[in-house]
Amino acid sequence: MQRFSAFSLLRHALSGHQDWEAQWRSPERPASAYDVVIIGGGGHGLATAYYLAKEHGVRRVAVLEKGWIGGGNTGRNTTIIRSNYLMAESAALYEHAMQLWEGLSQALNYNVMYSPRGVMMLAHTVHDVQVFQRHVHANRLAGVDNEWLTPAQAKAFCPPLAIGGEMRYPVLGAALQRRGGTARHDAVAWGYARGASALGVDIVQNCEVTGIVRDGSGAVAAVETTRGRVATRTIGVVAAGNTSVVMAMAGVRMPLESYPLQALVSEPVKPVFPCVVMSNTIHAYVSQSDKGELVIGAGTDAYVS
Ligand SMILES: Cc1cc2nc3c(=O)[nH]c(=O)nc-3n(C[C@H](O)[C@H](O)[C@H](O)COP(=O)(O)OP(=O)(O)OC[C@H]3O[C@@H](n4cnc5c(N)ncnc54)[C@H](O)[C@@H]3O)c2cc1C
Repeated sequence: MQRFSAFSLLRHALSGHQDWEAQWRSPERPASAYDVVIIGGGGHGLATAYYLAKEHGVRRVAVLEKGWIGGGNTGRNTTIIRSNYLMAESAALYEHAMQLWEGLSQALNYNVMYSPRGVMMLAHTVHDVQVFQRHVHANRLAGVDNEWLTPAQAKAFCPPLAIGGEMRYPVLGAALQRRGGTARHDAVAWGYARGASALGVDIVQNCEVTGIVRDGSGAVAAVETTRGRVATRTIGVVAAGNTSVVMAMAGVRMPLESYPLQALVSEPVKPVFPCVVMSNTIHAYVSQSDKGELVIGAGTDAYVS
């Protein structure tokens, strides 16, 4: 794997950046057998393959993706990173993830554009104020940064915020996690793919898993794909909303329901929005991407997909 550094950028500049290697190997079809087959090439599938190879030395790993890597949720989300969750168990999990984010570009030698610009959650009602202040205290007890802001402090942190006058949802205060922020979602998939590929993982795109074959004892023996049968004893199903569909191929009924979650992205505009602002009451959240698009998310739809 060619590493990125100031020196390598300079060296490749001499050839007009024409001679960079492909960032990851992209075999046309999978091999006939692997130790582990990961079904789904999103952030979770690619990260699982990367850490299996890096931390556990499992090298005969394939990631099988029915479309293109990062083409599912991973490339279509609002990119927010935060660890200010209420329950200690959730906060600990997300805080571990946050610490991974903080060193991820260095660990992968790939710029995931992690931007800790602050995530601010607005309180519009007395109930919101009480809930968020409880959040702040619980987080601080668990060692997770979170602080309470007055409306004036919230406006100072995020100048486009309207805090005065008559409005349907007045801002009564806000909880701010300064270390929270965003990362470029595609780069996360590409960075993990590049790292995994360098460790020997095969990433096969346009390769849908269509069946899971079990032997007489009931154990997994192979997967059927649109690019042939692949023998394996271990599969990782990382197919997001399709997980129950994939698991049904093995005869396993998962207690899962999938709900659509939608977001929208504007045309790129000049920098106007410096942080991430969330409103649970309205259930909307907004930030501005590095390209300039305003990224606006909503809550889940009220019906299963
Ligand atoms: C609109 C929206 C906004 C969001 N905002 C945020 C946010 O701000 N912050 C945050 O942390 N999270 C956010 N999320 C959630 C986050 O995006 C997901 O939790 C995460 O991307 C899931 O990654 P994944 O790898 O599990 O799934 P995915 O990226 O969906 O990958 C699953 C892959 O499995 C593949 N697949 C499915 N079936 C098969 C098959 N049979 N064979 C082969 N491949 C198959 C799919 O093609 C897909 O590429 C948001 C999600 C959405 C939809």
